[in-house]
Amino acid sequence: MSIIVQKYGGTSVATPERIRCVAQRVIATKRAGHQVVVVVSAMATETDRLLQLAKAVASGGHPSEVDVVASTGEMVAAALTALALQAAGEKARSLLGFQLPILTDTSYAGARILSVNSAPILACFESGVIPVIAGFQGVDEKGQITTLGRGGSDTTAVAIAASLGGASCEIYTDVDGVYSADPRICPKAVLLPEVSYRFMREAAGLGTKVMHDRSVSMGMRYQVPITVRNSFNDSHGTAIGNKETSVSCIALDSNIARVSFFGSERIALIPKSSISGLADDYKQQILFVDDEVAKVSVVGGPLTINPAYHLPTMVGNLNDHDVPCLATSAGPLSLSFLVPKTSATDAVQLLHSLSHSHQEAI
Ligand code: ADP
Ligand code: ASP
Ligand code: MG
Repeated sequence: MSIIVQKYGGTSVATPERIRCVAQRVIATKRAGHQVVVVVSAMATETDRLLQLAKAVASGGHPSEVDVVASTGEMVAAALTALALQAAGEKARSLLGFQLPILTDTSYAGARILSVNSAPILACFESGVIPVIAGFQGVDEKGQITTLGRGGSDTTAVAIAASLGGASCEIYTDVDGVYSADPRICPKAVLLPEVSYRFMREAAGLGTKVMHDRSVSMGMRYQVPITVRNSFNDSHGTAIGNKETSVSCIALDSNIARVSFFGSERIALIPKSSISGLADDYKQQILFVDDEVAKVSVVGGPLTINPAYHLPTMVGNLNDHDVPCLATSAGPLSLSFLVPKTSATDAVQLLHSLSHSHQEAI
């Protein structure tokens, strides 16, 4: 009997009605002959609300308490999903990160998973109970609750699939799969039916938030077959595996700031969430912080063969369309352009039209 880990994101469990729909899909999968493990995120916007609440009470407290607050969103969603499954006639139980446990390091707000104890999940299978696991959370060696970083429930799901050996992982979200750009920003984006771990790891690391970047690295390392699908319909979605394809996509990261230091020509790009920590540690050395920027990247195989991807040509193309390019960089499978935040949408659409016209020509 195959094991499928199904992860449902925030919009997929946003309302009681949506949670009942999730329960129906889980039950249909079970009745088709699979063992199902469910992983849920907090209901949509709940984590933002919880983090704001913690900030409103006191900023600067110990980050482990903020993680306790943030983790409660998934606790509620897991229990509600278990209740919905029970109401539909199935045996189900919620399992929180510390109950398995999912052991992590102590990097609060961005903890890394060290190990997963799958014994309670196997015990659920034995007794015909559907396990519903709270995503995004773990526990460190001191017994403190940790969280895995924003979007981290994907990583919980892939880690659980890896720990079960031979399991596959379905990531249910609010779009049909991985597109050639964020479909909410680029109306011409097309669905990519199949991409490689390598491609997806690069895209996720550069801001494609449909998958948490660590979840893709983990899937690659433990060879977990991953599918990204829409929880609102039955589309096939995007399969992520070893096979390299020639697709490309445009990634956008609006969550960064550029920082420059006295006496150095170098400009560092850092996540906005790290600015206050950096300011505390390097107050004297910081020359300026600019968070009105965005990084737009072209990711994918054709980079190596298409002359249109020649860096100066692309910068010229952006400039011709009044998109100033403040800096460029290259990764193993990508070219990135730093642009003013106000030009980010234009840059995504322009780079998409360049890369997509090439794909049609192949
Ligand atoms: P969930 O709450 O289900 O985890 P996320 O908001 O984390 O969902 O991720 C889904 C969102 O990712 C989509 O709504 C979409 O706007 C965004 N996204 C960004 N880039 C892409 C892309 N290339 N393909 C698909 N979705 C993308
Ligand atoms: N609820 C968490 C967040 O909003 C984790 C997740 O959605 O994956 O970041
Ligand atoms: Mg997500």
